[in-house]
Amino acid sequence: MAKELIHREVVIIGSGPAGLTAAIYAARADLHPLLIEGPQPGGQLMITTEVENYPGFAKGIQGPELMKEFREQAARFGTEFLVTYVTSADLSRRPFVLETEDYKIKAETLIVASGASAKWLGIPGEAPAPHGLGGYGVSACATCDGFFFKGKPIVVVGGGDTAMEEANFLSRYGSRVTVIHRRDSLRASKIMQDKAFKNDKIDFIWDTAVEEILGTPKMGVIGVRIKNLKTGEEKIFPCEGVFIAIGHKPNTDIFRGQLDMDEIGYIKTAGTSMATNIPGVYACGDAQDSFYRQAITAAGTGCMAAIDAERFLDNLPVLMANGEEVTNEGERVTADHENIIMPDGEVVSNHTENDPVHGD
Ligand code: NAP
Repeated sequence: MAKELIHREVVIIGSGPAGLTAAIYAARADLHPLLIEGPQPGGQLMITTEVENYPGFAKGIQGPELMKEFREQAARFGTEFLVTYVTSADLSRRPFVLETEDYKIKAETLIVASGASAKWLGIPGEAPAPHGLGGYGVSACATCDGFFFKGKPIVVVGGGDTAMEEANFLSRYGSRVTVIHRRDSLRASKIMQDKAFKNDKIDFIWDTAVEEILGTPKMGVIGVRIKNLKTGEEKIFPCEGVFIAIGHKPNTDIFRGQLDMDEIGYIKTAGTSMATNIPGVYACGDAQDSFYRQAITAAGTGCMAAIDAERFLDNLPVLMANGEEVTNEGERVTADHENIIMPDGEVVSNHTENDPVHGD
């Protein structure tokens, strides 16, 4: 069956804080954005508990509740939502073409807000069943699965904020929570470390790698095989739940080879705009930010991406990563602002007759 064709001025991939903020801005600019929600609508905050640091919520707010508000605000101004998964993207010319199972989507501008997914250790026993014990005691989401481990010993792997947050949350349920970390100090922020150190249900095993998760789908997890990285000593540590909390990987694989990215897959943007290396394509949120990775910064960059897309569609120049400014008609203002290169290659001065040039 032929795929349904959709053609929009602004298409946004991703429905976390970045994508939904881009949608709010694009919709209020009357650009009728289409937002592709992806496999985890609402993004990572849907699997978070209390969000205490999102401005405007003095008493804190639950992650899913916050995302519901974002979505309703985007819908209020006319954002169109599509729950589907983009399988390929052709960014070689405008309109850009995205393929999903049922749709061919043409986009005059594209905002990539596809976020990031949990990373895994890649050890035996970790994969989803039937290959491993995923779903039978192994998880990367305490909010989703913590409830199943009431009164049971739990292991959390990792030393960052996510690991501390998961450990604190899981201590409500587990008989004990043991954080296993590969170094002898945590990467987590001081406030999160202090919270975990003060929690008398949380223990730490330092300088240690988890090498295998043991158990069967019938029995569930019965323990982990761990190795002290300083002494080389190996032993079995009994537990009934294992939560992997070692960070995230940006969901940008379909753009590899088209959009400039770092070695991990974070999309490179201009710095003072959210422009990628392709005029008309913008990236925001965790798909491009390996440093701040907060809901509020994701929302901020989503706003910037939408404003960039709006300017581009209005034929106003947008700053690119190489320092040039580019319009959607293909005019390029050189990085030194001295010349404009027209789409046919003609070079004209970027100065009016009365405009003083550098050095005057
Ligand atoms: P992260 O800061 O990158 O920390 C990942 C942790 O996992 C590190 O301790 C790392 O060890 C460890 N790790 C990575 N790969 C490993 C492997 N293969 N084997 C064993 N251990 C491994 O990731 P995150 O904790 O998910 O945090 C990401 C960002 O989100 C941070 O900016 C964080 O501040 C933010 N965040 C904030 C909150 C909050 O404020 N409520 C909550 C969650 C996350 P090393 O330390 O040795 O590298």
